[in-house]
Amino acid sequence: MEKAEFSAIINYLDRNWNKPWEVEEEMVKLLYQSKMPRLIELGRTPLPTEYGPMTYIVFGDYATGKEYDVAIFGNFTGKKFMDYNYPLVRVHSSCRTSELFHADNCECRQELDFALKQMSKEKKGILIYLNQEGGGNGIKAKIAAYKNTFEIKKGKVIVKKRQKRQAIKRLRWI
Ligand SMILES: [Zn+2]
Repeated sequence: MEKAEFSAIINYLDRNWNKPWEVEEEMVKLLYQSKMPRLIELGRTPLPTEYGPMTYIVFGDYATGKEYDVAIFGNFTGKKFMDYNYPLVRVHSSCRTSELFHADNCECRQELDFALKQMSKEKKGILIYLNQEGGGNGIKAKIAAYKNTFEIKKGKVIVKKRQKRQAIKRLRWI
């Protein structure tokens, strides 16, 4: 790929990376062909948290405009990863209903909390937080599944009767 062509792609994506609906398929294809990384680090900072100090890093995906969060406990610089005696690593799929609103139909928030506590305890660990809902199906599909599953009766949310078996099976994967 010509240098000018390459920098044209970079400039285009720099301007539009957060507007994936404007990133044309052709540009994404060129991005793959150029073999440059799709993910770039947007920034990192030390962060005081209730789990203890961590390094917080955000990556941006040029092709989709999504952002991904990484939380690092401890210091991983200067050595090979495996020299650190197999530190804890969790790849966590975001779940806004559980993590933001404490919905109790899944255990995503508790799993995230447990992972962060363990990493904090060992003072070593990497949490990769994937910005994707419903295990990658997207928030729209997740809401549709919930809508088919739950209903409000007499002020309470209940699992729809005829959906019960299917709903429980489905919810385990959300
Ligand atoms: Zn969940």
